[in-house]
Amino acid sequence: MANDANSAEGGLEAPTRHPLDWKEPDFYDEQALFSELERVYDICHGCRRCVSLCNAFPTLFDLVDESNTMEVDGVDKKDYWAVVDQCYLCDLCYLTKCPYVPPHEWNVDFPHLMLRAKAVKHEQHGATTRDKLLTATDMVGSIASIPIVAEVVNKSNELKPVRNLLEATLGIHAQAPLPKFSSKSARKRVMQQDAGAVKVQATAQTTGRLGVFLTCYGNRNAPQTVEDMVAILKHNKVDVGLTESERCCGMPKLELGDLKAVEKLKDQNIPKLMKLVRRGYDLTAPIPSCVLMYKQELPLMFPDDEDVQTVAKAFFDPFEYLMLRHREQQLDLKFAQSLGKVAYHVPCHQRVQKIGPKTKEVLELVPDTEVTLIERCSGHDGTYAVKKENYAHAQKICRPVVSRVEQAAADHFISDCPMAGELIEHGMSEGRATSAFSLLRRAYGI
Ligand code: SF4
Ligand code: SF4
Repeated sequence: MANDANSAEGGLEAPTRHPLDWKEPDFYDEQALFSELERVYDICHGCRRCVSLCNAFPTLFDLVDESNTMEVDGVDKKDYWAVVDQCYLCDLCYLTKCPYVPPHEWNVDFPHLMLRAKAVKHEQHGATTRDKLLTATDMVGSIASIPIVAEVVNKSNELKPVRNLLEATLGIHAQAPLPKFSSKSARKRVMQQDAGAVKVQATAQTTGRLGVFLTCYGNRNAPQTVEDMVAILKHNKVDVGLTESERCCGMPKLELGDLKAVEKLKDQNIPKLMKLVRRGYDLTAPIPSCVLMYKQELPLMFPDDEDVQTVAKAFFDPFEYLMLRHREQQLDLKFAQSLGKVAYHVPCHQRVQKIGPKTKEVLELVPDTEVTLIERCSGHDGTYAVKKENYAHAQKICRPVVSRVEQAAADHFISDCPMAGELIEHGMSEGRATSAFSLLRRAYGI
């Protein structure tokens, strides 16, 4: 190995994350990138702790093991990209496995190195039509959710000839579950809900006013989830606010390495979120990846942007928010019915927020409710699972989750991420994913 064998095995200090130097000229220098990839691949080859997390590490280790030298120096540099293409930036390796993350002197941040490589590739070659389409969530959503168009799109996506055509022309796997579109958006539904007069009660860490960033997926693909979330918040006397409009949080563009597109989206969303913060609102979103974008990724991309840092501090996972309020008796504990056994898949982007299983903690406040945690990657990971070349890998990653859900023999199955829930459901012989918000609303009988 290129590194000193006497270096400490793992750091004892709390991990820190360095900002992403994406505005430095060296960031896009291919030679500098390759030399950093070689250094980190070499450390990973000597460690191999992450072999079971995703397909990036098995790809790397196979390349090394099948090379002439059986070391990283035997791997052709053009094959480095095969590893990069298998990373979907879930962050699990950094946050749950790696002992060499900063402040360790080896300074391994595997996901951010993959992100840098994706950004270099995007800068050099741009994106394919398929990848541009899959990450243009605002544009696709605004067209596909027009009344009548939504029904046509949803029905067409179930037709085998249409799916075969999509696979042949765009590379979207014919069997991958695709999101359904709704012409009645979450924004419309929330605006129609009774505003009510809320007597706001702040707690030590919450203002009791919560701005909901609807998210493009929540707004047009999972509006019922958002409607249920808002109903629960209002039931618990939280004053709910919305931005006047919003764009995608930027996570799909981040996963593509299109960092300039992320910046444009940030420039459109942050001022609107800041308006809410200035009016005394905390912030949340119904999808863990979008929460993570505001809590972690944007602050690391824009460390000197005060508004980005302010928004990050104001952002909460929705169940984290409910638990914080519960600590000060601001959560209604009068439930109309129990939920029985619940199998709960924890998405990677919720786990890496390091807040603990808040969804489970809230649901278990409902009497006679037992929640089984399933902490494994579903393999959905943004757009990864729908791509023709990744679908089989995604299914393999998802299989242990499917069997854990089936073994749980629960009354309900939930995931905090509706997309992960759909992929897990797709692998199950029977049963349907629901959302934790829908279950909690049912428990309240509201
Ligand atoms: S960030 Fe996730 S997908 Fe990427 S290498 Fe790490 S564990 Fe694998
Ligand atoms: S990311 Fe860290 S823990 Fe994972 S294989 Fe590489 S060095 Fe080991």
